[in-house]
Amino acid sequence: MNTGLYKAFLIKYAEIGVKGKNRHLFEEALVRQIKYALKKAGGSFQVTRTSGRIYVEAIGEFDFEDVVAYLQAVFGISGICPMVSMADEGFDQLCDFVVKYVDDLYQDKHRSFKIAARRSRKDYPLNSMEINAKVGEVLLETYPDMKVDVHNPDIMIHIEIREKIYMYSEVIPGPGGMPVGTNGKAMLLLSGGIDSPVAGYMIAKRGVKLDAVYFHAPPYTSDRAKQKVVDLARQLSRYAGPVYLHVINFTDIQLYIYEKCPHEELTIIMRRYMMRIAEHIAGETECLGLITGESIGQVASQTMQSLAATDDACQMPVYRPLIGFDKMEIVKVAEQIHTYETSIQPFEDCCTIFVAKHPVTKPKLSVIQKHEKMLEDKIEQLIQTALETDEIIIVS
Ligand code: ATP
Ligand code: MG
Repeated sequence: MNTGLYKAFLIKYAEIGVKGKNRHLFEEALVRQIKYALKKAGGSFQVTRTSGRIYVEAIGEFDFEDVVAYLQAVFGISGICPMVSMADEGFDQLCDFVVKYVDDLYQDKHRSFKIAARRSRKDYPLNSMEINAKVGEVLLETYPDMKVDVHNPDIMIHIEIREKIYMYSEVIPGPGGMPVGTNGKAMLLLSGGIDSPVAGYMIAKRGVKLDAVYFHAPPYTSDRAKQKVVDLARQLSRYAGPVYLHVINFTDIQLYIYEKCPHEELTIIMRRYMMRIAEHIAGETECLGLITGESIGQVASQTMQSLAATDDACQMPVYRPLIGFDKMEIVKVAEQIHTYETSIQPFEDCCTIFVAKHPVTKPKLSVIQKHEKMLEDKIEQLIQTALETDEIIIVS
């Protein structure tokens, strides 16, 4: 494919559930996210919304592969159609243009085709049906190996008559989903592991904007462990837009739990405090829920009993999109979204530093609650300090 031909893209999006007033919001958010993505792609582009369609037009040179890759990270896009364009210089020129286009793109002519013309300008001398018939005729004359198939063509050649004339026949798949920003915002508990970035990706794909919180435990966890989380947030921002990452110093809370509570329950109690703190920040930043990378049975702290105990610590809805996924399935997505390489870097994780040899797998909520009472003296103060020293990093 000679990608240098292309000067514009038609953006397709799934319209299911996008009716009435919602459609307007959906399209506006999609345009905003496309502009955000293209800013990173380099080059200069015009993104326009006309009669229910979104077009991206390049002003000057651009790198085709790069632009497609960035567009493929914009949720809400179902297809990306690279378009060629020409000035309207008459119908004969249009036919020449189609003949050349087909030759450039399809060396082997043993194919069926259909022409689908569409006029947004009614002053064009031919109507859509006439354009279809006449252009089809010219193609058949020029390339005798080609044939028409109106039901199931190998190549569907779209011709759009607007101010200029545009043509496309290829559709590159987009990521699907809904544009970020159309479904509110949620707080992702982002660790340096494989799972939580994937969880964030999946919720963002439903149109939810992301903030993130990372519990850091210096000196038990290093600056490099923190940098890894910043890097993961950056990968996510490619899909989700700018991410406000809250880095909470969790060391004193962790040490205090270690001092006062049974060691088999450390992970679960720690996790409950993470949820409480995350919920607090979420409440102050207009987040409508929390997101974690938990999956049933993956580790001791993710049995049904452990999840129930974790869930009990906060009121906000907790979204766990990986709940029914195997590790293999999660890894597959992590690879696709390019977070895997970063996630497997071997830096310590604050939850693994203090893990007991035999953590409880069936915690009883009443017992956990009783043991948390032993933290009464200082825990509120420690949480307060952790919140006051929240370091916010804007990652984009
Ligand atoms: P991950 O790969 O996401 O770290 P995991 O399999 O290691 O998950 P756990 O360590 O049990 O699982 O953590 C479960 C979830 O709790 C994580 O997916 C994440 O959402 C949250 N979490 C754990 N540790 C942290 C942390 N240090 N900071 C923020 N969130 C965390
Ligand atoms: Mg982890």
